[in-house]
Amino acid sequence: MSQQLQIMKLTKVVVCPLMGYIGEDAAKVVEFLQSVTTPPDKVKCPKCGQEIESERAALHLVTRHCRVTGKKVVCDLCGERLDSMGNFMRHVREHLVVGVLRNGMWIWYCTICGREFTSKRSVLVHVLKSHEVED
Ligand SMILES: [Zn+2]
Ligand SMILES: [Zn+2]
Ligand SMILES: [Zn+2]
Repeated sequence: MSQQLQIMKLTKVVVCPLMGYIGEDAAKVVEFLQSVTTPPDKVKCPKCGQEIESERAALHLVTRHCRVTGKKVVCDLCGERLDSMGNFMRHVREHLVVGVLRNGMWIWYCTICGREFTSKRSVLVHVLKSHEVED
C-alpha cells in the first residue's frame, strides 16, 4: 500500500514541532501533517521538550538552539555552521518546511501548524510571519 511519495526537504534534518519530531524522515513528517485537522496553540520543541506557543515556535528555535563560536553560528538542530545570524535564521526556517509532489505540483507544508502552501517562498514567509512573532 505504500505509495512512493516524492518529498523535498531544504535541510538534511527536518524539525516538526507539531509532531515533536526531529530527524531525517521527511516522509513520516508529511504523512503526519496530512492527518492534522486543527493545529493546537501550543507545540513542543523536539530538541529540548519545552512547550512553546505556536506563534513563537520558530523564534524559540532561533534564540535557544544556536551556539556562536567566533564568527560562526552553529545550528544546534543539525550541527551546520552558518556565517551570520541572518543566515542562521533563514536556515532554521528551512528546517521547518517540507514539500511533497501531488498531482504534478509541489505542495509545501509548515511543520509547525501543518498549513499547505503552493510555493516554497510563501511557506518560508509564513514561518517568519506566523511563527517568529516577538513581543
Ligand atoms: Zn527547544
Ligand atoms: Zn540546522
Ligand atoms: Zn505554520
